[in-house]
Amino acid sequence: MAVTDADVVIVGARCAGSAAAATLAGAGRRVIAVDSARFPSATISTHLLWPDGLAELARLGVLESVEALGAPRLPLASVEIPGVRAAGGYSAVDGIDYAMCVRRAGLDLALVEHARAAGAEVREGARATGLVWSDGRVAGVEVAERDGRSYRLRAPVVVGADGRRSAVARLVGAAEPYRRRPDGRACYYAYFDDPHEELRPVAAQWRQGAELGTAFPCDGGLTLVLLMPPETRAADFRKYPEKEYERTIDELLPDLAVRLSGCERRSRVFAASGLESYFRVSAGPGWALAGDAGHFKDPVTAQGIRDALRFGRLLGESLGELPVAFPGDGGRDKEVDRAIAAWQERRDRECLETYYWTDRTGRGDPVGPLDVEMHRALRADPALMTRFLDVYSRIVRPSQALTAPRLAGWTMRALLRPGTDRAALAGLVLRTARELRRERASVRELTRRHRVPP
Ligand SMILES: Cc1cc2nc3c(=O)[nH]c(=O)nc-3n(C[C@H](O)[C@H](O)[C@H](O)COP(=O)(O)OP(=O)(O)OC[C@H]3O[C@@H](n4cnc5c(N)ncnc54)[C@H](O)[C@@H]3O)c2cc1C
Repeated sequence: MAVTDADVVIVGARCAGSAAAATLAGAGRRVIAVDSARFPSATISTHLLWPDGLAELARLGVLESVEALGAPRLPLASVEIPGVRAAGGYSAVDGIDYAMCVRRAGLDLALVEHARAAGAEVREGARATGLVWSDGRVAGVEVAERDGRSYRLRAPVVVGADGRRSAVARLVGAAEPYRRRPDGRACYYAYFDDPHEELRPVAAQWRQGAELGTAFPCDGGLTLVLLMPPETRAADFRKYPEKEYERTIDELLPDLAVRLSGCERRSRVFAASGLESYFRVSAGPGWALAGDAGHFKDPVTAQGIRDALRFGRLLGESLGELPVAFPGDGGRDKEVDRAIAAWQERRDRECLETYYWTDRTGRGDPVGPLDVEMHRALRADPALMTRFLDVYSRIVRPSQALTAPRLAGWTMRALLRPGTDRAALAGLVLRTARELRRERASVRELTRRHRVPP
């Protein structure tokens, strides 16, 4: 029998990797996670967590240590277009009715420490360079440490939790997505000090023309300011990112500039563009892809950390329930593969509608007449605002908030508003209706294919 160093080896130890490692270790499995990074360290990512993302941290048992990092609770959210501002709160998820924005260095360290406390071994500065194969199955990982040492870790299951550019996905031949959408908006963010105590409980978003900006108060007394211009403007930022970042706030998002008056920028501008959204095949013989390695959505709806935590944990739970398998132990191998395949189906079922909604939200489109009517409706009805916010928390599906009667009502109101370009509105409504019909058919088809008992 082959030497087995661990029951599961995990490549990548941030959100998905640590969540899977902690859960598996908690179930008594021998887990080794390797990460080429050292912790604490930042990564290119903003870090807003909606109530359900925080509930995921609570489900893992790590919320308390994350809250101890000192990020303010954000019980309010606001969305603003010129002349219309809507604000409201969230429904509680497991008693949590606030969002929170926690810088990744602290958040990820808390996750790694949690995985270690649960019994997982986490090796830092250790890069997976190849896979070990046995009888057509993945059976381990080749690792290179920063000091030049290299070795093999053998295990019947390897989880790639190694992010968007996943080496594991490439090595198992799953790098090419089976569903993909191009990026509509690029990301540029920086941190500001923030003397406005009265505004620190609010996660705020502004849209004007085709520009989108957000201000999320975070830990360290700072506020994270993320700009998401249309991807077509990435070229403007490439040459002089700092200058274009400042200009965008001052000239193109004046209401955000007002929010930031008296705040000073305390960091450089971090950039990410070309962020394609995708689903990859994430289940195979002896391997799984968790978190961004298997599925990524545009950051505009801030779902990635939540999904990485959730499906990392769920993968850990389903593998943790199985009897330990060994390479070549045919029956058990099949059980492992079936569990991973079922986990992937669940991920797809839970994420597909959110993926389509995120894609529409993240397009670089300018604020249109339906957006105006939506903002007016949200301003007039706090309960509706909460319902829309609950879509971000995944307790209301996009199709339950953006219903056909609602769309029709906003279209009528836009038609009656003086100055509306009726031909453009008709085109927009037809396009939206067509897309929604197609998306909802695709979600129904997936649900039918993977029907599971409630
Ligand atoms: C600009 C931007 C803004 C975002 N904003 C938000 C937001 O506000 N809210 C939100 O919820 N999500 C946000 N996201 C998404 C979020 O960052 C990801 O969904 C999340 O980090 C996924 O976690 P993960 O564990 O799958 O991967 P990652 O966090 O990418 O971690 C992967 C780990 O794998 C390690 N690794 C990679 N290759 C190897 C290797 N060969 N060997 C060993 N280790 C390896 C890396 O060092 C890294 O530590 C944003 C993303 C971007 C790009």
